[in-house]
Amino acid sequence: MSKSSKRIFYFGHKRVDGRGTMRELLGGKGANLAEMTRLGLPVPPGFTICTRTCLEVLENNGAIPAGLHDELDKNIQRLQKDCGRMFGDEKNPLLVSVRSGAANSMPGMMDTILNLGLNDRSVEGLARLSKDRRFALDAYRRLIQMYGDVVMSVDHHHFEQALDGIKKQQQVENDAELNEAALEQLIQQYKIIFKQHTKQDFPQRPQEQLEMSIASVFNSWNTPRARRYREIHAISDQLGTAVNIQSMVFGNLGETSASGVAFTRNPADGSNQLYGEFLINAQGEDVVAGIRTPQTMRALSDWNRDIYKQLKSIKKILEAHYHDMQDIEFTIEQGRLYMLQTRTGKRSGHAALKIAVQMVKEGLIKKKTAIMRLTAEDLNQLLLPSFDPAATRTVIARGLPASPGAASGKLAFSSEEVVERSNNGEAVILVRHETSADDIDGMHAARGILTATGGATSHAAVVARGWGKCCITGVAALQIDTARRRVIIDDISYGPDDVVSLDGNTGEVMTGAIALINPELSGDFATLMKWTDRYRTLGVRCNADTPADAERGRQLGAEGIGLCRTEHMFFDPQRIQSMREMILADDLESRQKALKKLLPYQRRDFEGLLMAMDGLPVTIRLLDPPLHEFLPTDKQDIVELAKSLGVSQTLIRQRISELHESNPMLGNRGCRLSICYPEILHMQVSAIVEATINCLRKQSQVKPQIMIPLTGFASELGYLKPLVLDCIAEVKKRKRFSDTLDIPVGTMIEVPRAALTAAEMAEHAEFFSFGTNDLTQMTLGFSRDDAGSFLSTYLHRNILPRDPFQSLDSVGVGQLIRLAVKQGRKSRKNLSCGICGEHGGDPDSIHFCHQVGLDYVSCSPFRVPIARLAAAQAALVKKK
Ligand code: PEP
Ligand code: MG
Repeated sequence: MSKSSKRIFYFGHKRVDGRGTMRELLGGKGANLAEMTRLGLPVPPGFTICTRTCLEVLENNGAIPAGLHDELDKNIQRLQKDCGRMFGDEKNPLLVSVRSGAANSMPGMMDTILNLGLNDRSVEGLARLSKDRRFALDAYRRLIQMYGDVVMSVDHHHFEQALDGIKKQQQVENDAELNEAALEQLIQQYKIIFKQHTKQDFPQRPQEQLEMSIASVFNSWNTPRARRYREIHAISDQLGTAVNIQSMVFGNLGETSASGVAFTRNPADGSNQLYGEFLINAQGEDVVAGIRTPQTMRALSDWNRDIYKQLKSIKKILEAHYHDMQDIEFTIEQGRLYMLQTRTGKRSGHAALKIAVQMVKEGLIKKKTAIMRLTAEDLNQLLLPSFDPAATRTVIARGLPASPGAASGKLAFSSEEVVERSNNGEAVILVRHETSADDIDGMHAARGILTATGGATSHAAVVARGWGKCCITGVAALQIDTARRRVIIDDISYGPDDVVSLDGNTGEVMTGAIALINPELSGDFATLMKWTDRYRTLGVRCNADTPADAERGRQLGAEGIGLCRTEHMFFDPQRIQSMREMILADDLESRQKALKKLLPYQRRDFEGLLMAMDGLPVTIRLLDPPLHEFLPTDKQDIVELAKSLGVSQTLIRQRISELHESNPMLGNRGCRLSICYPEILHMQVSAIVEATINCLRKQSQVKPQIMIPLTGFASELGYLKPLVLDCIAEVKKRKRFSDTLDIPVGTMIEVPRAALTAAEMAEHAEFFSFGTNDLTQMTLGFSRDDAGSFLSTYLHRNILPRDPFQSLDSVGVGQLIRLAVKQGRKSRKNLSCGICGEHGGDPDSIHFCHQVGLDYVSCSPFRVPIARLAAAQAALVKKK
């Protein structure tokens, strides 16, 4: 038989056709049963009908292909010989299980039939063999029930009704208490039910039972629930399932028998010990179904020390072979251990890290494998607080998981309310339609942030991620009545005393408080991070605006600051006053007067930042947002501002209306501000240079860089760069600083035109930093703040695979980046290129950055470890 036409793969004592690598063809279960048999483990013999056959059968409307019968016969004969038992025999019957097994695990989606091969005669054979007639009768009635339900679609409810009736009649509570006579009676009733609903007798020929069961497993590939599962988990319909036919072993053959499931290491904390449970005198299904409370592995070692030892040695063999933690199923039949399944075990982030590092230390895997095995989600779990997975959740709404983490607190409806209540020791969640720069204090004091609108790069999302604070945006179901301090979700009203919990990893909003698990940076975490640094070529910086953020980033491994958004420094109550004074000034002199007040603050900020990153580059961006963002909108705030500045309210209103823009994101912002108000640039550059000189005079090695945002024309840089250089020279002279001062001046690439004309831009810019939030906004024509209203529909309808503000659109936006890097480096050979948009912390985007040859990525301090891991993975993938 040619290899490609072979449909059945045997695994037994003398012959094993399959192997572990044949997952696609044999399904995960079948491939591993073959592999375990090859390893000499005690696997009950059997055979696997391959996935190709499933597709063949489904294409033929369920008809079994001609050649399959012969192949099936041959394999049954092999199995009979191996087991020393015969199909349907009344003395020594062979019984099998029939189980589905696709390449990707689809838990509980498809059918299982046990005890196949029993009929009116062989049941007596089983009774003699097992010396337990009650057990044999029970196995037979289970077969009729399973076969009736799964293969012949008889509603299981009918069988259950009959079972309940007999239990009542016999006055027993438990199935296990039914005696032989009762079971005989039940079998008769089951047969009648079977005939009533199928118009035929329960098949006595094992061959027929088997063929019908195989067809049923194949058909179960296409049940609506299996299709839906594949849709959700993006599994192709074209894979098909394999069918595993395996000789039965019984965990329910008395007190020396048992069934169990175990992980070779603890899947919650990663400790190196068998972790699982088992049930004495039970079939595997009973362990999972929770009929009785199973016992622990420790109890297993007390119950049967020898079996425990065997399991421990199997654990060693499996881990040495698969080089990973395994999830196993086993059965003990009258004191003999059998292995029924092994597969890679699912684990928590904590366990993933511990297992990977330990396995390197044990010599089981290489460091590279450990790095490749961990995921961003694993590290996320380690870095942020999360909810106890065992806690119950009452979900009331869903939004975009804008910033990961978890938080519980009472609802607060304004920034001031959050500050006041949290000062009084309350845990509160800030609820806003959307946040603005004015909310910064409240956002900072809140445990978490919840907004009705906004997307993944809305103000709330960006700020929250920077702080590692949990945030959910775009919760469409949220109706906020700020005046009455209430939110309405699905007609239920929640007020300031109601507690909600936010899961920033899933976007779920829940009622009530949920217990938190705190993050822990263990020694293993540091070890793994060191390994990633050995392999990655991409630098990793952080986006930070305060010394505290910079320090946090540095602790987590940041190699500098890739973006300091200076506007965040102006929201402090004292500074915003001078900022507003500056904005409201209607002549240069008054503007300079207000700026003079801001300069010392800025200088102090920069000194703090530069010192926190001493020896490492700090990229400081000049003011970027439209000025109206700094002005008050609230009536009362306007009244107070007028009073404190000694100007009329009318003047303030007039200035606000002058600054009003219909489309501020495309208005007077970025480098346009510096061109219109060069005095702002002058103040900021002066503060940077003064701070630098002050630090250098204290023997530090600070390395500032000045970054001009939102340029689109080389001429903009041609105009602004000399202003920056003149200001640097002026401060140097004023401060009598005679050493050379190396402060590179670069630009952000955020406007598509800048990318398209990168060669010209690089004639002025000494470095590029891709601001992919704006670059995405402008390339796609999607507003960062409004895309939330349609993005979820786009994602749901598969128009876009992922939120382009979270994961870089490498086809479109990526093309601009690729071009800009190439053209930019053509005109300036050593042009340093980095990314500082939100994508700098997204693993897929980081892979892209590695491929196009960027020098570094910059992301929120909390994402630095994830970026280090992704950068190392990108380098390792490329090497392959
Ligand atoms: C960007 O546009 O990618 C960026 C980093 O700047 P901001 O988010 O502050 O506009
Ligand atoms: Mg930007």
